[in-house]
Amino acid sequence: MHCGLCLDACPTFRATGLETESPRGRIYLMTQWKRGQMTFDEKQVRHIDLCLGCRTCEAVCPSGVPYGRIIEAGRAEVEQARRPTAKRWVAKTALRQLLAHPRRLRAFGAATRVAQAAHLTSVISSGRQLPPLRPAFKPPAGGVAQAIGSRRYRVAFLVGCVMPILYPQSHDAAVKLLQLAGCDVWFPQGERCCGALHAHNGDLEEAERLREYNSRVYASGQFDALVVDSAGCGAHLKDFYPTLKGRVKDLSEWLAETGLPQPKRDVKVKVTYQDACHLAHAQRIKKQPRELIRAVPGVELVEMRHPDICCGAAGLYSTLEPGMSRRILEEKIDDLLGTGAELVVTANPGCQMQLASGLRARGSHIRVEHVGELLARSFL
Ligand code: SF4
Ligand code: SF4
Repeated sequence: MHCGLCLDACPTFRATGLETESPRGRIYLMTQWKRGQMTFDEKQVRHIDLCLGCRTCEAVCPSGVPYGRIIEAGRAEVEQARRPTAKRWVAKTALRQLLAHPRRLRAFGAATRVAQAAHLTSVISSGRQLPPLRPAFKPPAGGVAQAIGSRRYRVAFLVGCVMPILYPQSHDAAVKLLQLAGCDVWFPQGERCCGALHAHNGDLEEAERLREYNSRVYASGQFDALVVDSAGCGAHLKDFYPTLKGRVKDLSEWLAETGLPQPKRDVKVKVTYQDACHLAHAQRIKKQPRELIRAVPGVELVEMRHPDICCGAAGLYSTLEPGMSRRILEEKIDDLLGTGAELVVTANPGCQMQLASGLRARGSHIRVEHVGELLARSFL
């Protein structure tokens, strides 16, 4: 199908106006390579690299073309065929050697925290987008946080790789909300990174290894749902883990489904909501976070222009493709500033970092939070 209805929704097509930077152009290229009808060309790989993997095209496609699956598989093939570049080698190695190993990642987080305190972040990392780090999130002793009041469900919780280090306060809020919703929250012992960033980056081999490992961990316990507060991880677990089929829930999806008690206090704030691509497009969840935000007394929710267009974070994209990432971010920041909001909430750590970085660069004082943090201020 070549209708082109996806083109105007694609952030890289919107930025360049080029067919080669559109979903249709990329599908054409990957198909031609696959069928052997076009010789593989290193220069053309650029068009694949510039795809954000945001899946906006998939959400608007009337023919149901599974673009997310196509680009993941296409990227894996491209990574096999291309000459490795230093930047991509470093990214792949960091993903394999750091993200997949919780202890190493925690040590890295602790070292970064010390470096931040000593104003040395540029030595230890690019530091451009990293938020000020707090002590990392730790599951409770015994591995279960008990339901508040009568227990209705037992859920597993994805602690994940970078989220407990970068945004422990988001996990704290999510877990307390789940307890308040009557859930015993189980933290599966030994769980590792879900592999979303590896798959997104064309390293399906490592993503499969992590899936096998984690699937065994999840099989060791009973739970009604695996709740995830990071949109990218949730989308990956839903698509890539067949043994979890139907049991992975985004935090807002689960809370909207199971219900929270009445809010306890007003939060007087003008807020806007940025749809994380992997929540809005990959998981098709747009209504639930907005309903939950509107349930907070005192909140004024204002919609920005194009809330569901990517902010340019897209996993490692902002590091690997900083030029295009910044171009896309600039438009997003214009849209955010246009709302007059004091707070922007979203549901993915990459988006939080990217938006905060873009707002800081413009000298804006708009705060960025996970949607769970806003809810926690009212409901807890
Ligand atoms: S995933 Fe996003 S950037 Fe890539 S082609 Fe689709 S809409 Fe464009
Ligand atoms: S991916 Fe879907 S929307 Fe885009 S050109 Fe093909 S059929 Fe049309």
